[in-house]
Amino acid sequence: MIVPFLDLKTQNKNILPQIYPLFEEIIESASFVGGEHIQKFEEEFAEFCRRKYCAAVNSGTDALRFALIAGGIKQGDEIITVPNTFIATTEAITQSGARPIFVDINPGTYNIDVSRIEQAITPKTKAIIPVHLYGQCADMDAILDIAQRYNLLVIEDACQAHGAEYKGKRAGSMGLVGCFSFYPGKNLGAFGEGGAVVSDDEIVIQKIKRLRDHGQVKKYEHEMEGYNGRLDTLQAAVLRTKLRYLEEWNSLRRQNAALYEELLKAVKEIVLPYEPEWSKAVYHLYVIRVKERDRLQKELSELSIHTGLHYPTPLHLQRVYTHLGYKNGSFPIAEKYAKEILSLPMFPELKREQIEYTAESIKKCLYKLCGV
Ligand SMILES: *Cc1c(COP(=O)(O)O)cnc(C)c1O
Repeated sequence: MIVPFLDLKTQNKNILPQIYPLFEEIIESASFVGGEHIQKFEEEFAEFCRRKYCAAVNSGTDALRFALIAGGIKQGDEIITVPNTFIATTEAITQSGARPIFVDINPGTYNIDVSRIEQAITPKTKAIIPVHLYGQCADMDAILDIAQRYNLLVIEDACQAHGAEYKGKRAGSMGLVGCFSFYPGKNLGAFGEGGAVVSDDEIVIQKIKRLRDHGQVKKYEHEMEGYNGRLDTLQAAVLRTKLRYLEEWNSLRRQNAALYEELLKAVKEIVLPYEPEWSKAVYHLYVIRVKERDRLQKELSELSIHTGLHYPTPLHLQRVYTHLGYKNGSFPIAEKYAKEILSLPMFPELKREQIEYTAESIKKCLYKLCGV
């Protein structure tokens, strides 16, 4: 048996008959930028996130960058986030002119440790970017409370968390804005690049729509310089079609997670994902922790079970961020976990037998490695 880490082909095959006619229509009309599919997708995705407005953009990175710029972030500002995220989070911060300030993670949820945020705040702090890592929301009430007391913006990096819930509220619906990625492997993925910002603040969304379109208010009328950061029409058609299945796909991911849990919970060498009672995670990734991580990953790969590492090096230890002045030991939890995390195969179409084979193989390998 082969267990791929991610299988997009099966999902695409099921929905292609619905997508091809839309492609035909768009290609025949030769209107590839803007148009009704974009507007409709924005309405539909805002509704999915339980927000009033949405601006579709070219990537999750653009979503974060435009959100920061539209929020008024500028040179010299400080933005608080976590070191265990994809570099897009901090690229957006730097590209808005600001400086990333890291806070260690909660040992149970792997999201920002809310008890450490206040000590990272300085007079230069302007915003917090909680990352809803692996598809589980950060502890938003605590974050919003701190943000209110210190007058900080909250920009949710929901790039892995389409449809996740926190106390019944959707990821992306709690901060000033929520930022999403539609990179192909995300829970909602385009046939290429894509992203979106959702918000209840009409002005912020208008600014983002200008930023994505060279700062244009109207064609060739520029109040400022912007970017080329639009979602294209073919992608909007794909995303509109896929959005109709997202709830179903997310619940299949949750079912797969529940099966992993049932099969692996007795294995004491492994720490399984933890969902607090206020959380409904959408398992963009299913990440376990194990001391013998590197050897286990290698053994699994020899059994055709493909796994991933998200992320092997915390950002504060990346060479590009040496100038920020962090060192080994700055964020002990994030550093320890980076050596132990292992992302198991996870996607909606994953079969019961594949999960069983994966769990069985993990047990066998650990028996061999640790003499369990
Ligand atoms: C994928 C991702 C991004 C960036 O999204 P792109 O669409 O690839 O630009 C940002 N943050 C996190 C946490 C992500 O997983």
